[in-house]
Amino acid sequence: MPRHRIANFGLLLHAEAAIVSKSARTILIILLVILVPFLIYAVVQIRSLSQDEKMAKAIYEKQMETVLFSLNQYADDRMQQWVNKLADKAHPIAQNANDLVLGNEAIQLLVIRHLSSRQDSLCYSDYASRDLDAMGLIDRWYQQQDSTLNKLTNYLKAGFQKIQPAIGLPHIPGLNPAQGAMTVMVYDKDSTLHNALFIFDMNYWVASVLGAKMQELSQNEYLLSMVQKDPADDRINSLFSTGDFDPDRDYAAHSLWILPNTYLTIQTKGTSYAELIRKRNRTNLAFLFFSLITVLIGAFLIFRNARKALKIAQLKSDFVSNVSHEIRTPLSLIRMYAETLLLGRLNSEEKKQNYYEVIHRESGRLTYLVNNILDFARIEANRTTYHKTEVDLNKLAQNLYDTYAHTLKEAGMIGMITLHQESITILADDQAFEAALSNLIDNAIKYNPAKGVVHLSTYVQDGFACCTVTDKGIGIRPENQSKIFEQFYRVEDALTQKTKGTGLGLSLVKHIMEEHHGEVTVKSKPGQGSSFTLKFPLTTNQK
Ligand code: ADP
Repeated sequence: MPRHRIANFGLLLHAEAAIVSKSARTILIILLVILVPFLIYAVVQIRSLSQDEKMAKAIYEKQMETVLFSLNQYADDRMQQWVNKLADKAHPIAQNANDLVLGNEAIQLLVIRHLSSRQDSLCYSDYASRDLDAMGLIDRWYQQQDSTLNKLTNYLKAGFQKIQPAIGLPHIPGLNPAQGAMTVMVYDKDSTLHNALFIFDMNYWVASVLGAKMQELSQNEYLLSMVQKDPADDRINSLFSTGDFDPDRDYAAHSLWILPNTYLTIQTKGTSYAELIRKRNRTNLAFLFFSLITVLIGAFLIFRNARKALKIAQLKSDFVSNVSHEIRTPLSLIRMYAETLLLGRLNSEEKKQNYYEVIHRESGRLTYLVNNILDFARIEANRTTYHKTEVDLNKLAQNLYDTYAHTLKEAGMIGMITLHQESITILADDQAFEAALSNLIDNAIKYNPAKGVVHLSTYVQDGFACCTVTDKGIGIRPENQSKIFEQFYRVEDALTQKTKGTGLGLSLVKHIMEEHHGEVTVKSKPGQGSSFTLKFPLTTNQK
């Protein structure tokens, strides 16, 4: 090869390397251009979604709280009305108490305690039954209320009649079980100080007193409920509701000022604004997530394809360097030996013969190499045609073995052949077969630094006519065994790299075998050798 051509290969190599690094940069830029804005958008979107939700919740709760506040206020006012009746200065407190209980079904028992004498008078509703224990229980409760009563008295003296829940009052027998109780300080007509203890039927009070107001406020838009929370296990028990209270849906709750553990709750009917926002957010998030996955898959595919393209570019660049090396060596040998012969400096016939042999062998190598490249070019251009005829596998194998006998000997290796005892007919293009088997024998010699045995054998197995080339060479690692049949692929280890090659041979073999409806298989162990088998389908009359 002329020197300038070889120099051109070098230039080509540099150009390829430049293309490789340029492509890597382009891929990176594409990925950044697509991915970065998308990721920024996704983060901003997710943040604004949660802010939307928070704001919607705040607006919703404010709205609900207004309704609850007015209801609470109403409950307080109604209680205050009872107290006002009791404190009516027109009559003594005992009469007021009797009148109040008589005209109010919600009150089950009203206790009036004269503060200085500690005398209690009990006014029972007609619907409650008197129990002897009640008196004792109430008296015991009063004994622990000194500080509360003092506080309430101080308030009253300051002009503020505070109504307070009667905390700690035990369950009074004889009355309905749902008992609510509150206490307040009242002046009698003659300005003596009394404490009033109202024990009322919670269910009745809520339904008759608050119920109508709740219905009015709900306006069929909201669901208002009065619930009690069990302090022991937080279980919610609905006392009254303008519809069906559903504790699993969003609701706002306000504790009732006058009763402990009792809450007013409000829910929207149908889907709430917050729920709508949440639903919309969920759809948006799902869409965002889906788009992100699509973009990631897209980016991954672009990246994979680009990497594949880079790999092929790399392999091609290796190929150019390998071919230039492969061609240069035999060419310079031929040139050197021919020049020596032309100069007529050699006297001994034996030496001349030796030189002719080298020229012959090296030109044979060149032919083999060029044939491989041409075959490859033909396959690439889809211009391969095979003329298949019925041939004897034993005969083809033996012929090629004979051709290689000399090369094997020269390479210092031992050749062996074992043929199937009967002839095996296959349908094959004999030249293609030769090309395939030559590649296998050539590799068995090349990747065999220990110069061991190369064994060629033919046999029939599992309906296939087989031809195997076994060597005791460097072997191939399992992870590389499928890759070696790819175009331009050469194993990346020191031993292979020391050996000349183009990475085309086995891809040609694979193509040829596919065209013959057969296959090429490999069994190999690193350091122990390899065994490549060409498998042809048996002709119908041999099966
Ligand atoms: P090459 O021109 O590199 O020999 P091939 O396609 O014939 O190309 O082989 C591909 C690769 O497979 C080789 O580079 C080598 O690493 C590995 N290989 C092929 N045959 C053998 C063998 N008999 N022993 C060990 N390695 C082999």
